[in-house]
Amino acid sequence: MKITFCGAAGTTTGSQHLIEVNQQRILLDCGLYQGRRHEALERNQHFPFDATKIDCVVLSHCHIDHSGNLPNLVKQGFVGNIYATTATRDLCAIMLPDSAHIQMSDVEWLNKKRKLTGEPLLEPIYTKLDAQNSLQQFVTVGYHRTLPIADGVKLTFIDAGHVLGSAQVILDIQDHATGKQHRLLFSGDVGRPNTDLLVDAEPSEAVDHVIMESTYGGRKHELAARTSEHICNIINTAIDRHGKVIIPAFAVERTQQLLYTLDKLSHEGCIPPVPTYVDSPLAVDATNIFRLHMDSLKPSVREALFMQRDPFGFDGLKLIREREDSQKLNDLIGPAIIISASGMAESGRILHHLRNNIEDRRNIILFVGYCAEQTLGWKIREGWPRVNILGDQFQVHAQIEILDSFSGHADHDELLGYFDRIGGAKKNVFLVHGESERANALQAALQERHEGRVEVARLLQEVTL
Ligand SMILES: [Zn+2]
Ligand SMILES: [Zn+2]
Repeated sequence: MKITFCGAAGTTTGSQHLIEVNQQRILLDCGLYQGRRHEALERNQHFPFDATKIDCVVLSHCHIDHSGNLPNLVKQGFVGNIYATTATRDLCAIMLPDSAHIQMSDVEWLNKKRKLTGEPLLEPIYTKLDAQNSLQQFVTVGYHRTLPIADGVKLTFIDAGHVLGSAQVILDIQDHATGKQHRLLFSGDVGRPNTDLLVDAEPSEAVDHVIMESTYGGRKHELAARTSEHICNIINTAIDRHGKVIIPAFAVERTQQLLYTLDKLSHEGCIPPVPTYVDSPLAVDATNIFRLHMDSLKPSVREALFMQRDPFGFDGLKLIREREDSQKLNDLIGPAIIISASGMAESGRILHHLRNNIEDRRNIILFVGYCAEQTLGWKIREGWPRVNILGDQFQVHAQIEILDSFSGHADHDELLGYFDRIGGAKKNVFLVHGESERANALQAALQERHEGRVEVARLLQEVTL
């Protein structure tokens, strides 16, 4: 059996790992690489393998850094099955066409400039039609339902507690060439324990090899209990200054988590009634999908849904789909909360809200999620005094706040706890999905407590087991 780390090695985005065994090629995740525009275009367009030779894809969860290059894989001739949980499939059904839309408008924007300079025009990585085509190839599998997916290979999904439908992937592999039996665990992205909405990542047994994420190696998140206090202060500060709170948030899961918290806070009287807008058609759709997949939610949330009290709604909340309604927010006077995508502020309606609000000292920009290096969100988080938004320079005068406790990712100690709950010899551990510094920090800690091999995977590294 051979593993090649084709993405999310030394970085957090573009998750893709190729497993070759018994003349079969199984791709774990087919994520989009997000970063500098030109490098991203180049890396996403060209796979380091022949798409027509992939037999099947196993998808850990819906996030674009894991699923976002599937339409391109299909466009380049992949005809096999894409195995995913039902919730992951449903979320991909709204997220992949949305991603196509972003690719198409990105290229349109670049081409406007290219037309003026006479440079050759660019093609989008994929279109909405490619996204639709890829959705035809999904085969859904429930948690704990073991399924043969290739010669000598069985797949089992267990919950990863990271986003609705997120899974850890267990592959039971009978390697005919060597006669060896392997159990490989791919963690996907690992969620924090004890969150409001999702169940905790499940433990696994008798694991031989682990491919594990390391996003927050060496980092500690704020305690969940402090989050409510912190968010209360932020909102009340902005209201006192007649300012706005602008929250770049992923449409899926983070937005629902925020709504759940804001609902709780206003119920408890910690924040006064304040107009709150979710400005993202995708977030509105995603919220509906959450309601369809209650089995993945915490029992308390399920109960709330059964009791007919909407945990994703409260007085003063407006969900915005239409562009005209979104534009009206530009003229909004007085305190308000605007939640909009994308979470890394790379695209989407959040860019307009940042343009409108970033130069006003009364406002607060609140980051509630991870931002990959070089994205606009990362630059603002890092404290850049000036940033470019949609082609124009803006001074950053708004107050910047960061709440990492909302993270969908386990922090350092939580990752160690997760690792300890993986049963078996864990002879080979490969760390992926982390910037080098983060992955190295986790490697050092794991090596202290574990005798097996623990390595930080390198891009295009091949390992034979
Ligand atoms: Zn994820
Ligand atoms: Zn990820």
